[in-house]
Amino acid sequence: MLTTLRRIVLEFAQNTELESALLHMVTQVKSALNTDCCSIYLADHDKEQFVLMASDGLAKDSLGRTRIGFSQGLVGLVAQREEPINISNAHKHPKFIKAPEVQEDDLHAFLGTPIIHQRKVLGILSIQQKKSRYFNENEEAFLVTLSAQLAMAIASAEARELISLGSILKSKQLKGVSGSSGVAIGEMVVIQPKIRLQTISLKRHKNLSVELARFEQAVHETRLEFDNMTAKLSNVISDSSLDIFEMYKQLLDNANIGHEVQGKINDGWNAESALKLVIDSYIVQFEALDDPYLRERASDIRDLGNRILINLFDGSTGLTESQGAFILVAEDVTASMLAEYQHSGLKGIVSMSGSNNSHAAILARALGLPAIMGIDKIPLDQFHQQTAIVDGYSGELFISPNEALRREYQHLIEEEYALADKVKQVEKLPAITLDGKGIELQLNAGLSSGFEHSINVGAVGVGLYRTEIPFMNQSCFPSELQQTTLYEQVLSSFPKQPVTMRTLDVGGDKALPYFPIVEDNPFLGWRGIRITLDHPEIFLQQVRAMIKANYGHNNLEIMLPMISDISEVDEATRLINQAYYEISSELTLIGDEKLSKPKIGMMIEVPGVIFQLRDFASKVDFFSVGSNDLTQYLLAVDRNNAQVSDLYDSYHPAVLRALNAIAEESSKYLVPLSLCGELASDPAGALLLLAMGYDKLSMNPHNIAKIKWVIRHVELQRAKTILSHAMSFTSAKQVHTYLRGQLEVLGLGGFVRAGM
Ligand code: PEP
Ligand code: MG
Repeated sequence: MLTTLRRIVLEFAQNTELESALLHMVTQVKSALNTDCCSIYLADHDKEQFVLMASDGLAKDSLGRTRIGFSQGLVGLVAQREEPINISNAHKHPKFIKAPEVQEDDLHAFLGTPIIHQRKVLGILSIQQKKSRYFNENEEAFLVTLSAQLAMAIASAEARELISLGSILKSKQLKGVSGSSGVAIGEMVVIQPKIRLQTISLKRHKNLSVELARFEQAVHETRLEFDNMTAKLSNVISDSSLDIFEMYKQLLDNANIGHEVQGKINDGWNAESALKLVIDSYIVQFEALDDPYLRERASDIRDLGNRILINLFDGSTGLTESQGAFILVAEDVTASMLAEYQHSGLKGIVSMSGSNNSHAAILARALGLPAIMGIDKIPLDQFHQQTAIVDGYSGELFISPNEALRREYQHLIEEEYALADKVKQVEKLPAITLDGKGIELQLNAGLSSGFEHSINVGAVGVGLYRTEIPFMNQSCFPSELQQTTLYEQVLSSFPKQPVTMRTLDVGGDKALPYFPIVEDNPFLGWRGIRITLDHPEIFLQQVRAMIKANYGHNNLEIMLPMISDISEVDEATRLINQAYYEISSELTLIGDEKLSKPKIGMMIEVPGVIFQLRDFASKVDFFSVGSNDLTQYLLAVDRNNAQVSDLYDSYHPAVLRALNAIAEESSKYLVPLSLCGELASDPAGALLLLAMGYDKLSMNPHNIAKIKWVIRHVELQRAKTILSHAMSFTSAKQVHTYLRGQLEVLGLGGFVRAGM
């Protein structure tokens, strides 16, 4: 039985056409179970009906036509109960509905099982037999197992076969991850570059100097394009996301990829082959990395390679100019595609590959364009010129939306525009409530190499400078001097404003290419402070660099990640003091300038710490909650696992109560408190944290103005009332519904919408 089951599922998944896959499958099931009929119904969620999609046993001309309401008939009953229903004589069952066109008068026994994917009923699989009898346990087990296995295959086949199924089910919804929030409606423009490195076959050249000259010219043109892109975008973008083009230009330099390609041309390859060889080897290296941010850099390198390739030929990207509002759809939307198109009606992006770490997503956020990344693989060209709605809050794409849906989203877009204008007006004003309660908004920085663009977004210093990235972009640990130079740049960019630098936080999902860690449970293993305290030489070098860089600026604060035990704070403080005294004696201090001692704070990310805040309070100068990890550890949900992503929710009552308890304890022991996870940049999250009494919220630069606007339009007392209600709920869902309603009442609904 198991082999038959496996074969049926495998053959189903391999069939590229959904309707024929379903037909083949019902025939196989009917024969495997030696019964008289097998049918499959798929859900049309818009119309709340099941459509008979395939059957071996029911009348052929009812396929695609017979529809049963979600709560009607035996099919509806199976869906409602979400369990198998086994009936010896269906005709006598009170829920039985006669549908003459299917011709089932002689079929008496009925067994139906729901096909459920991610808690959603996708359809019903049923078998029927002439003889009136109950199906036995083995038959039932077979059908249940098959339905469970088919669920995934049907979910992805539906996505693949979107258009043909769409002709029956009309508008269609696909799900990816949110790369950038916001909503857009427009015609989809599918971009398939004319030429790509993947399609180049390797060839040797006949004339060395011609190939070198071709390559040099292509690099020159590519560099000019990047200059143009930067110039075009710098009027619109106010943060570090433009640095991608600087990085591209550096890579083009003779010392980097440019040099390696010339080497391959010298070895006898023509220019495009040499380029392909070099780019492919970089891609392989990046794709092998565990860290999701670095893995995404493979796509940047591919983008760069394809740009040069196009310039090796006629320089035309194969992209068609579009009129009016459009949504850019591509297998891999790249940063340069975005740069090229953002002035010509681009309203949103949909990328089959990538995640919210992709540079396209980073740029889309900076440009305020909604983006969906990593959407199910689908036949691209079929989408060209169809109307779609991009919901960048939820990561949903609606193709050929019906009029009602379209109207609803159009309304949201209008509200969003109005809000964006208002928000800009408060960018430089303090974050202060209507009744005068102030809260400091700070920047999260360090995820990309630049930060210069973030200086003027209206924040008060840096609440979290992630130091991992300079460690990751290297082939060995950066030297003390390298680190000092970098940290000095950061500290000097924010004169007289605090800059909180976090000590190296690798492990978990962030690995250093030159320092591999292999563990069964990386998030519960050697991570953050645990690694650096086991390697005091690395820790000391880093804090020495920070303290040296702080000389003359005096705005450094050091923050310790992943603290779970008092001894870690003691040991880290001892090492920081040691570094401080060493540097004091090494530096020649100018005049009466003193080397200032940085404040030392710790992150609250491990739930156990919450029960020991009194003990920690006397050891540190400040607490900063890492709500991303705290949520993951409190709820035991891997923050990167899509399978359980529905359970990962910082609005879960347990998380809210933990955050509130932290605020109460911190205030009791007079420890300044901030929060630097994603929750701070969510309007509802910011309101709750304000009400709890958090002193500072740290977030990405592009969220500062929005959160300021929210804070400036509420009274502390009102926020407190909202908090006390929110804390009384028993599920995250209730919390979301309540908060969404409250934000609407406050006139802040436009910021959250589907995203909450
Ligand atoms: C956090 O865990 O909330 C945090 C800010 O740190 P990171 O996201 O870098 O783990
Ligand atoms: Mg963390």
